[in-house]
Amino acid sequence: MNMHEMLKSAAALAIVSQAAVSAVAHPGLYGDAPDAKHAWAVHDWNRPKPHRVSVSDSGVPSDAIVLFDGSEKSFKENWNRKKGCRAWSVEPDGSLAVHGGRRGSGPLTTKQSFGDCQLHIEFRHPKSLASNKGYAQDRGNSGVFLMGTSFGYEVQVLESYNSCREAKGTKDYVDVYTDGQCGSIYAENPPMVNPMKKLGEWQVYDIVFHQPVWEGNKLVHPGSMTVFMNGVLVQDHWEMEGQTTHRKRRPLQPHPKAAPLALQYHNSDVFFRNIWIRPLPSRWDNKTHSSMSGDPEAVMKLRRETAAKLYAKISDPGAATAANVKALAEVVAYANEGKYKADFEKALKNFYAAKPSDADRKDVNSTLEILVRSKVIGAELVK
Ligand code: MG
Repeated sequence: MNMHEMLKSAAALAIVSQAAVSAVAHPGLYGDAPDAKHAWAVHDWNRPKPHRVSVSDSGVPSDAIVLFDGSEKSFKENWNRKKGCRAWSVEPDGSLAVHGGRRGSGPLTTKQSFGDCQLHIEFRHPKSLASNKGYAQDRGNSGVFLMGTSFGYEVQVLESYNSCREAKGTKDYVDVYTDGQCGSIYAENPPMVNPMKKLGEWQVYDIVFHQPVWEGNKLVHPGSMTVFMNGVLVQDHWEMEGQTTHRKRRPLQPHPKAAPLALQYHNSDVFFRNIWIRPLPSRWDNKTHSSMSGDPEAVMKLRRETAAKLYAKISDPGAATAANVKALAEVVAYANEGKYKADFEKALKNFYAAKPSDADRKDVNSTLEILVRSKVIGAELVK
């Protein structure tokens, strides 16, 4: 074989393998059919793929909004620096610092508003604290307030390395009310464990937040907070009981669906870096594929759209072939009605009447069995 023939052969092989891939890539109905709450079948090849997200060398996803990257520019662009924020500044080492002792200062808020989100933020305390034994809530207190400080939800920031059972009885132990130590949903739920690093070291929060869901004044779902501290799970999908406050239980109440992210000013020195956020869709916005939130009308609308697309690809709906019957079987899995139903039943009848091979009959029947067990058709149609 000369070089030209080799190339031709390789090209032919590529076409064959491409065809094989295509054939495998859409085998038709393969798992349980769509139903009233699910617009897609199980293992549905028609279901849209997710978008690609790449991750930078520094770990930032390409679809994240970078709120602070160490530069003065990102501070100016993303954060409100109005009167009351004089305690906040970008430091020469590229950290965003809040300085205690600045009277009249307040929280730092983002210009953009957010609701449900994934948030990454790193923080550290000074290498030494003025008092090792002062009131524990004054030891490097700040906080990450999802949806702001007026009605939002605080993940506490506090120096809490020695606020753990293992340190109790030692000279380093720092007592603090447990639902107010680092990693807590403040005043509500303590961290499950204490993975905090030593004073002065950088700490990492990765937070997944879903706000409470309301229909008017009726609470549909209390929302949730999942928090990793230094890669260790400390809040496991905690469902919120209230809005953050101090010393009281403050019930959940409806509020705007988006609000600025806020970092708390609490008269302490704390440093932040690498802050990025990814707005997330609400789990409860999924109206087309969910046993919890699926809306039968929205589900049926999408099912009919898929059925129409699949039907449009069929060149001869009257063909009595296994391939055509399977193609129509997939269509009726989405919408067993009108011309789809009529064409499917007619093609199926003609298929059986044409005395198909055992292999073809087995092939078709295996698809029909999915429709039968999914209650799309009755078992009497399978011969
Ligand atoms: Mg706080």
